Order: sequence, then C-alpha cells, then structure tokens
Amino acid sequence: MTYYHQNDKGQDIGLPVNKVVCVGRNYLDHINEMNSTVSEAPLLFMKPKAAMCNIANAVAIPTTMGPCHNELEVSVLLNRELKNANEEEAKNAIWGIGLGLDLTLREAQAALKKDGQPWERAKSFDNSAPLSQFVPISAINDLDDLHFTLTINGEVRQQGDTSLMLNKIIPLIAHMSTIFTLDAGDVVLTGTPKGVGPLLPGDNVSISLQGHFTLDTKVVGQ
Ligand code: ZN
Repeated sequence: MTYYHQNDKGQDIGLPVNKVVCVGRNYLDHINEMNSTVSEAPLLFMKPKAAMCNIANAVAIPTTMGPCHNELEVSVLLNRELKNANEEEAKNAIWGIGLGLDLTLREAQAALKKDGQPWERAKSFDNSAPLSQFVPISAINDLDDLHFTLTINGEVRQQGDTSLMLNKIIPLIAHMSTIFTLDAGDVVLTGTPKGVGPLLPGDNVSISLQGHFTLDTKVVGQ
C-alpha cells in the first residue's frame, strides 16, 4: 500500500514522502532501561522512504530476525527545507504533529552496537516506521507538553511526556539541520520513553496523543 502523509481527516496532506530522521537516547528513563549513557550530542540516525507506512493499516514486523520492539515516539512533519536553521525557522517549518513507532530489532541492534556498526539493519527495514495521521501545528498548544500512550492488548506499555525530553523538539530540529539538510515531507521521530518490549503478530495496539486522537491497530508478520 502506498504511503502518503495524512491529516486528521484522513486526507492526503500533499507533501512529498521523504526520509525519517530519528534521535536515540532522548528520554532518561529509556536510557536507564537500556543501561545506556546520555550522549553528548544528540544520537541521530535515519530511516528511508520505504520505512514509512500507515499505522492504521497494520504494524508489520519481521518474524525471523529476533524480537521486534515497540518505541512509540512523537512524530513531526516538516513542510519546507531547513539548513542551518535557527529555532524560529525550525518552528515555522512544522506542518504538524503525530505519533510513530520506531520499530527496532533489538537483538540485531545489540549485535551491531557490540561491533561498533551503524543501526540501520536493526531499525531501517521496510515498514519500520508506522506513522499516524498528523494534527496541524495550529491545533497544538505546547510542543513541550504533549502526552502520549501505547497500549498493547489492553495494558499500558509506554507513557510519554515531551516535557521530559533531553533535546526538546524545536532545538532538536534546528540542530539536525546543521548536520544535514531537512526537506519538505521529512518526518522527525523524537525518541522513545521507557517501556520498550517485543511485539507479536496478533497483538492489539492502541496509540493515543492526549487531547487529539486515539487509534487502534494490529500487529501482523511481514
Ligand atoms: Zn527510537
């Protein structure tokens, strides 16, 4: 199924589908659960276009490559190019806010970390970034006061609060644009709070951005 960025009415926003830029280790509680350390500079990685899919259709996970973990993150859709942007420019480039999963093959990632290799094999496979619709930025009161929840089979697995981010959304996007150009249609995934764990085909998944939307979907094998 071809992916396109959707607004909260399910309509095509009309922005191109580009890359996904992600940040790791952006919440202290997740750094602690992984026995990781706080990175001096934000830990950045990318997912290609083929990683994006509509989470409402399904969360499709690889079934032969070890555990595939949920990481529910606030997603940001950009509507213009950003290069060496200041915070004002970064703020003005946000089309809207949604939620996305940064699906992660945890054993593969551990092996890559051990070898000092990049994470793409564990995080950048096709359908590794199931994304929700986007709420227009005009409907968002405060980017640093967003609350989000992941429920699996009726049990809350992750609860996030963007006020607890180590790198807040606007400065993070401005910083990313000093490393590489961000483009219209890029999506930024802003890091996961604690509560990562394995997904299994058949799991019922519910994601919620408090005050904006709740969406139900299902895990399938790919
Ligand atoms: Zn993540």
